[in-house]
Amino acid sequence: MVILKFGGTSVGSAERMKALVNLISSDEKKIVVLSAMSGTTNKLVDICKALFNKQHQIANDYINALESLYLKEVDALYSKEEFKTKGIDLIKNHFNHLRSFTLDMFTSNEEKAILAQGELLSTALFYFHLQEIGMTAALIPALNFMRIDENEEPQLAYIENNLNLELAKYPTTTIFITQGYICRNAFGEIDNLKRGGSDYTASIIGAAIRAKEVQIWTDIDGMHNNDPRIVNKTHAIYQLSFDEAAELAYFGAKILHPTCILPAQKRNIPVLLKNTMQPDALGTVISNSHSEEGIKAVAAKDGICAINIKSDRMLLAHGFLRAVFDIFERYKTSIDMITTSEIAVSLTIDNDTHLKEITKELEEFANVEVEKEQTIICIVGNLPKNKAGYGFKVLEAIKDIPLRMVSYGGSSNNISVLVDSTQKKEALMALNKGLFGY
Ligand code: ASP
Ligand code: MG
Repeated sequence: MVILKFGGTSVGSAERMKALVNLISSDEKKIVVLSAMSGTTNKLVDICKALFNKQHQIANDYINALESLYLKEVDALYSKEEFKTKGIDLIKNHFNHLRSFTLDMFTSNEEKAILAQGELLSTALFYFHLQEIGMTAALIPALNFMRIDENEEPQLAYIENNLNLELAKYPTTTIFITQGYICRNAFGEIDNLKRGGSDYTASIIGAAIRAKEVQIWTDIDGMHNNDPRIVNKTHAIYQLSFDEAAELAYFGAKILHPTCILPAQKRNIPVLLKNTMQPDALGTVISNSHSEEGIKAVAAKDGICAINIKSDRMLLAHGFLRAVFDIFERYKTSIDMITTSEIAVSLTIDNDTHLKEITKELEEFANVEVEKEQTIICIVGNLPKNKAGYGFKVLEAIKDIPLRMVSYGGSSNNISVLVDSTQKKEALMALNKGLFGY
């Protein structure tokens, strides 16, 4: 069994949906995970905001506008009257359901139910299309098997059992369609895996049924060695280890959701990143098999806040770091990068919601300086600890850029530097030249 996940643009129009058929028509047994049509989830978020603010007229206008977009796609997607009617009925059902929310109280349960409509629509529309062209497939509802626990972690054993029950209903079928992103929570209510979570769905399903591989289909030919929006030349990376891919996804490579790697990695299931526009391009293979030595890519993460904590009490003392970390833990704020000297520690956070409270508590025993608008630049590869030269290569490439922090040796996959965000572009270009010769 293989898992194929297609994102919002791949199902973004009737035309794109039709083009998907070729990519899923092999004889191999497969589960096809779909996102909502591109833009839909954002619109649903707007509808929720309007409802939350009791702006019922605005919510209704948004609903009507989105509905007409869907009706247009239905008209373009189906040719037989029977299927046009089926499509229109589906749209009417879902949008009338959305309208029903405008009348009642609006809670977070309702918000989750609204956000789920995008994936429910895209999968049903695509399933009807397969029916119309005579392709046998089964639509299996993610809400029947995808489940998270109280800590919002996927319940793998539950998912494995229930997904297998769904699959067993169609013993001769080879193509199964299901929704990305949506799930049930520990109370059985409709919930989701957070924005961009369809990749995560695919990886969880792959792990649950121990699939041969998980394929994530997008609009670029795999992970690139640098950010193509910022530097002039980049190349796709053919092969990455799970750890390398996780670092890149977390530190900015937009192609893959950061949480996506973990379930597949746990059960050692290769993840392939493929391009719908160029299906024959190799893409990127993420797996546990041998990873070539060397620097493979750089990625950047903006919106970082650096905190410098300096205290004489740190001199020859123990327990200082624990006291610092304890504060961040109490405010559920995770730390990305950290560097220390004998009397000071610098660290970074990407979520400054509780910055004020954290600073206030730190100031009870230390001098605190905060710098916002920083960027972490992360250099990723297989960099064995007993090999000389990688640190030098990186620092040489960016020798003209002021460095706020440098982190080396945390893992043999990553060298990170912190720079002021105004220096990001220059740093990425300098690394592209120094490390990749572009
Ligand atoms: N439709 C959801 C979103 O836009 C999930 C996904 O596309 O991965 O966030
Ligand atoms: Mg995505």
